[in-house]
Amino acid sequence: MANNYRNGTTHRSSLNKAERPLSVNSNTKPKAKSFPPSGLRKSSPSLATAASKDVAGVSGRVRVAVRLRCRNADEMVADADFADCVELQPELKRLKLRKNNWDAETYEFDEVLTEFASQKRVYEVAAKPVVESVLDGYNGTVMAYGQTGTGKTYTLGRLGEEDPSTRGIMVRAMEHILADVSLETDSVTVCYFQLYMETIQDLLDPTNDNIAIVEDPKNGDVSLPGATLVEIRDQQSFVELLKLGEAHRFAANTRLNTESSRSHAILMVHVKRSIEGRGMMPSGENGNNNHIIKTLKPPIVRKGKLVVVDLAGSERIDKSGSEGHTLEEAKSINLSLSALGKCINALAEGSAHVPVRDSKLTRLLRDSFGGTARTSLVITIGPSPRHRGETASTIMFGQRAMKVENMLKLKEEFDYKSLSRRLDIQLDKLIAEQERQQKAFEDEIERITLEAESRISEAERNYEHALEKERLKYQEDYMESIKKLEEKWLMNQQKQGSETIIIGSKDGTSTDRGSTVSVAEELVEVKKLLMKETQSRKAAEEELNNLKSQVAQWKRSEALGNTEILKLRKMLEDEAHQKKKLEEEIAQLQSQLLHISFEADETRKRLDRSGSDKIPGSFDSLMNQVRQTQLQDSGNGEKASIAKLFEQVGLHKILSLLEAEDADVRIHAVKVVANLAAEESNQEKIVEAGGLSSLLILLRSSEDETIHRVAAGAIANLAMNETNQELIMSQGGITLLSMTAANAEEPQTLRMVAGAIANLCGNDKLQLKLRAEGGIKALLGMVRCGHPDVLAQVARGIANFAKCESRASTQGTKSGRSFLIDDGALPWIVQNANNEASPIRRHIELALCHLAQHEVNAKDMISGGALWELVRISRDCSREDIRTLAHRTLVSSPAFKAEMKRLHINY
Ligand code: ADP
Ligand code: MG
Repeated sequence: MANNYRNGTTHRSSLNKAERPLSVNSNTKPKAKSFPPSGLRKSSPSLATAASKDVAGVSGRVRVAVRLRCRNADEMVADADFADCVELQPELKRLKLRKNNWDAETYEFDEVLTEFASQKRVYEVAAKPVVESVLDGYNGTVMAYGQTGTGKTYTLGRLGEEDPSTRGIMVRAMEHILADVSLETDSVTVCYFQLYMETIQDLLDPTNDNIAIVEDPKNGDVSLPGATLVEIRDQQSFVELLKLGEAHRFAANTRLNTESSRSHAILMVHVKRSIEGRGMMPSGENGNNNHIIKTLKPPIVRKGKLVVVDLAGSERIDKSGSEGHTLEEAKSINLSLSALGKCINALAEGSAHVPVRDSKLTRLLRDSFGGTARTSLVITIGPSPRHRGETASTIMFGQRAMKVENMLKLKEEFDYKSLSRRLDIQLDKLIAEQERQQKAFEDEIERITLEAESRISEAERNYEHALEKERLKYQEDYMESIKKLEEKWLMNQQKQGSETIIIGSKDGTSTDRGSTVSVAEELVEVKKLLMKETQSRKAAEEELNNLKSQVAQWKRSEALGNTEILKLRKMLEDEAHQKKKLEEEIAQLQSQLLHISFEADETRKRLDRSGSDKIPGSFDSLMNQVRQTQLQDSGNGEKASIAKLFEQVGLHKILSLLEAEDADVRIHAVKVVANLAAEESNQEKIVEAGGLSSLLILLRSSEDETIHRVAAGAIANLAMNETNQELIMSQGGITLLSMTAANAEEPQTLRMVAGAIANLCGNDKLQLKLRAEGGIKALLGMVRCGHPDVLAQVARGIANFAKCESRASTQGTKSGRSFLIDDGALPWIVQNANNEASPIRRHIELALCHLAQHEVNAKDMISGGALWELVRISRDCSREDIRTLAHRTLVSSPAFKAEMKRLHINY
């Protein structure tokens, strides 16, 4: 019978028969029995066959069973005098609904369950096929519909803890599922919730009281991701969960001020099964290939979902308003159930539009009616004629539901996650295997290598052994042949001996034998000696060769060493030669220097002697005179010798001698440089080679006055050139010359210093610096010695300075009184203006004229007595140009004119 109840048929005729209530008189044979057995049974020929069928889907009508509850205690009393409103014909799967005592309407159902039907039987006919489908990977629904109190909850939710025979569909379904799945590879999870006034509350977590329905946009699958999902591993925990859900349902309904009959309770059981061995290649040619193919083939999972729905009491549709419910509540309660009714009507009539979205219940059950699920509906009715209307309504609902056709679809998919895990494991295995093989390979290589090595060494040993054997054999052969030869020789000897004995003695044969033996021994001895000798000769020869090669090597290295020594010797000789040459050069130079300095001294002495009565007009001419005298005295030969020296030795060497350790060398060197400096053509070279600096250094570093004198003379000669004048100044020349002047005792030294400063005084650009560094004061300081040569140079310096200053004043670059007056030169000027030595006088007259040209000096000149000197110059000076200059100056100066007027000088 149970099998007959299965869905999965494409047989349409049965539907036609169920379309309308059958009349008692109808001849139509009930067709419920004719429902073909399901092709989805576990006992189906093969899973693959089932799967191939499932791809396109299998049509499956909603199956409806009607269950009658027995009279309860109330009804026993209240309806005691009345017959039941229904009469069941289970064997015909018919139900008769009495209209009155004489008329009834007959309805055919898929299953008709009397009040005596056990819970087990109800499960088997109404739920078991659905559960089996779920286990096979389909969605399934078991739903109870009926008036409150007719046994919906009894049918579905009874736990049966006191009496196991009363266990309801939920408990039995889970038992069935847990018995069928493998908890190692499959999983069973449940969620349990109630729908009340269009709100979904989690019965496993009361705080979760507004769960959203989520629809998969691709396949329309509905799910409740917000609901608590509990994995079930044993029956007991499931029963506990149902109890917990029931308790929460009770609490929730108390809180919401309702009864369980007003809410829909829904249990969802998700069964996920992995299907091993499906879709694999047929085992055949290559086991390995098959293994890999099997590995790469993603495992298949089937996800069946069982939905058990304990609906709210159906009477609410009609009676809610009259039983004091709020309008809102009534609407909401009605909403889901009436929407379900509407959907079932639409589906039953094949209407184009099914208002699935009108309520949450219909959205939740979208797959159960007109979807892909196998659905079984149990309509529960009571026997009481007082509720005939409700019962009729319930029956009509069931009748319509029977017309709803579903299209069953296998919920099967590839489990890529599991494939990935499996591949990871496989990969790890392969890596480990590869490593193992690599190691084995390496070990094998090592083993082979070792074996080969041992074989080689064995072969070598064998070879050596054989060689040794061979050698011994040859040795033996050799010894043998020697022995034979010896024997032969012995025999020959014996022959000869016997002959000799016969000839030489007539003793017995014993003597002959004795001598033969001793000869043989001797022979052996001699041989041994010979061998030893040969060996030692060989050793000596080897030693000799060794020594010879060593000697050859030593010879080679000795030859190399000799070449090196020769080279070094040559270098040493060259160096010595060079040194000798240099020493000769130095000696020559020194002798020349001595000679020249001697000559120079002589010349100077001569000059000194004649200088007092014949002072030359300027320093230039003085130096010229020196040169002239030198040339006159020593002739061309001397000049030539200096030039020759210059060429031969080189200026740098001469200059380097200025710093020589030896004081004499230094003096000679400075004299040579001074002589060279007198020659204008040499001056530039000397300065370029650093001679000027060296001379200035000598002024500072040397304490020898001769050196001071000669160096100052050389500087004076170099100071004739304007560029050199600037160089001298920039190198602190004034300070050095002043210092030299202050320390000098000899007039000739002062003359040279004064001459140098006088030359510097003639440079327009150096006026300020020269004065600032004490040049004028130094000049004036030197007049202390009174020597006319010195005074003449001082006067020349003052005249030069006055001339440049006058030029600067005229050009406007100098203002104010003359520095000469500032530095106190005027008294000495006035005092020496009429000096008897004409070079002094001439220079001073010129200086006075230059000073007088500027009115700013007039006052000091007047007070210093210079006016008288100017007047005298303008009248008495032997040089006409100076006379005229003085005159012009006097007449052009207002101050002088005024003073002369005051003094009544007629001019
Ligand atoms: P509903 O859920 O439809 O409102 P219930 O399942 O609560 O109805 O049943 C109401 C009462 O009737 C409960 O006491 C229940 O035990 C009892 N009952 C219902 N069906 C049966 C049955 N088939 N056999 C015994 N008692 C039943
Ligand atoms: Mg109930």
